[in-house]
Amino acid sequence: MGKSEYRKRGIRAALFCLLSTGLWAQPKLVVQVVVDQMRAEYLQRFEHQFEKDGGFRILLDSGFQYSNTHYNYIPTYTGPGHASISTGTTPKYHGIVANDWLDTRTNYEMYCVEDTTVRPVGTVESGSRRSPKNLRTMTFSDGIKLYTNGRGKSFGVSIKDRGAILPAGQLADGAFWLDNSMHFVTSTYYMPNLPSYVTSYNEKEKALGLMKKGWKLDLAARKYEESLPDENPYEPKLNKGTSSFPYDLEYLVDTKGLNILKNTPIGNEMVLDMAMGLIQEEDLGADEDTDFLGVSFSSPDYAGHTWGVRSREVHDMYLKLDAQLGELIKTLDRKVGRQNYILYLTSDHGASENPNHLRNFGYEVQNYQNADVLTQLNDQIEERLGIQSAVGKIINHHIFLNDWAKASGLPITLIVEGMDPFAHAYSAEQIRIGSDDELIKLLNQGHQSRFSGDIVFTLQPNCIFYGPYGSTHGSGYTYDTHVPFLILGGAINAGSTTEKTSVTDIVDRVAESADLPYAPNSWVQ
Ligand SMILES: [Zn+2]
Repeated sequence: MGKSEYRKRGIRAALFCLLSTGLWAQPKLVVQVVVDQMRAEYLQRFEHQFEKDGGFRILLDSGFQYSNTHYNYIPTYTGPGHASISTGTTPKYHGIVANDWLDTRTNYEMYCVEDTTVRPVGTVESGSRRSPKNLRTMTFSDGIKLYTNGRGKSFGVSIKDRGAILPAGQLADGAFWLDNSMHFVTSTYYMPNLPSYVTSYNEKEKALGLMKKGWKLDLAARKYEESLPDENPYEPKLNKGTSSFPYDLEYLVDTKGLNILKNTPIGNEMVLDMAMGLIQEEDLGADEDTDFLGVSFSSPDYAGHTWGVRSREVHDMYLKLDAQLGELIKTLDRKVGRQNYILYLTSDHGASENPNHLRNFGYEVQNYQNADVLTQLNDQIEERLGIQSAVGKIINHHIFLNDWAKASGLPITLIVEGMDPFAHAYSAEQIRIGSDDELIKLLNQGHQSRFSGDIVFTLQPNCIFYGPYGSTHGSGYTYDTHVPFLILGGAINAGSTTEKTSVTDIVDRVAESADLPYAPNSWVQ
């Protein structure tokens, strides 16, 4: 019997004792928290600065931590991440293979939660024609909805539409995300009009109020020594020619538009407001029928992309998020009671280091531009095989060959693999069939042939397709796959394990801890 079997039996035995003494009931509320682009190492790097009543502190002290949790497929992007966490399946099965993909049958570039059959609600932006239509499987929340015979409620909230929609699933009562005016909106998939509490929240123009206060560091500047100096060459000079605190957010909005506020702690603050608003107004956790609330904090992803994983901007955002999560837990403790809810926290992917920073440190890596790589590749192919403009597009680490080059797939794959910054290249057929090779296994789990290019490649470690500032993600390397996973509440005791856990196991472990059914399509391990 493996370690995990012991643990599972232990949890089951504990549940049995509680059930037989009548103390344990299924949770009244399940709260799934996703922190977008949260590397697991942030919990270690910033731990000494988490406050006593902060959310990360409470989760680390009173929750159960699976400290070795990883993505078990490539690519590690936001849409696939939220779908995989929430369904317990990989993109191969749930169909969200990227944020955007090219449908090779129609040549249409599809966004993961795009749905032109629905209309925006609360906004005129056509970018809010959104639903879970492209998600093929059901979510953990859908399973709870069925289990409670429709009585349990299910909601999702995030800055990003995909962060709100995918966790709440097919049968959700509502999902809300921020439009470009920093207002919470939805689509007719869920409801014909915004609820009055959402409209009145929007009318307060919270973003504009918070903007006036600017963004100041929580702690004295000398306390950010786990991060790079405030002024460094890996961050854009957005703040009046500097990358330093305090940020004049009115200046940022004047120069970059209102949307830039999503890159600041204001985004998380508004998601927290809406999460607490939903608990209050929808009576989540008020009766015996288990409700579900998916909360996704997307500002850390925007901040990571803009300033990078070693920036003070990201560091400070996590200290503020610690306090914001503490508020959420305090509200849940007061309204629902710690023993009556289960809250779990994870992330949709990690992120790479900034390659320029690594290079200046002494590790020879660099960032690349998609267009430059495409040109170099076509030059190489023409020189070696005499085929002109063989590569038409590179999207999501897929190479789409032009028709006249398709017959030369194998020699082109070998040329790709022999060039920088590529590490490995495979034909789509090799990925589709799969093999025992660990890298092909990861690619196979993230793959659907109908959205595939002719050649699928991986990049060398820490080489990214990105500009000089900030960072990105998408690979199968540990910096992108390793994410936090902590559970709190119900009958869960404090503890931790370093046993390797897959992101697709998260809802299974939660279901077992909460005595709820497994997600309907989950691959239970
Ligand atoms: Zn991202």
